[in-house]
Amino acid sequence: MTRYRCPVCGTRRTDWNLLVAHQRQHGHKPCTCPGYHHPHRPGSPFCESRPTSGVAAAIRAGWEPTSEELLDALIEVTLTTAGRPLRQWPYPEN
Ligand SMILES: [Zn+2]
Ligand SMILES: [Zn+2]
Repeated sequence: MTRYRCPVCGTRRTDWNLLVAHQRQHGHKPCTCPGYHHPHRPGSPFCESRPTSGVAAAIRAGWEPTSEELLDALIEVTLTTAGRPLRQWPYPEN
């Protein structure tokens, strides 16, 4: 049986029209940034919405870092890109 997979959340539909309806209803639009040659799930390893995509792209382009250099690059990314905003303190009072 043919199954159509939503590239964003991974759930499957048996009918193309159901998949289109699902993507419209939940806003599951595949990302089309130049990290891949095809539409993909936002946040995939080479997707530009992912902070470490530059490191992954450098490795794909032939960079062979030692584990120390790789750790250095990832720390650099962590220190120079914005994190996620704090929405709730992890230990709410009760
Ligand atoms: Zn979906
Ligand atoms: Zn992307």
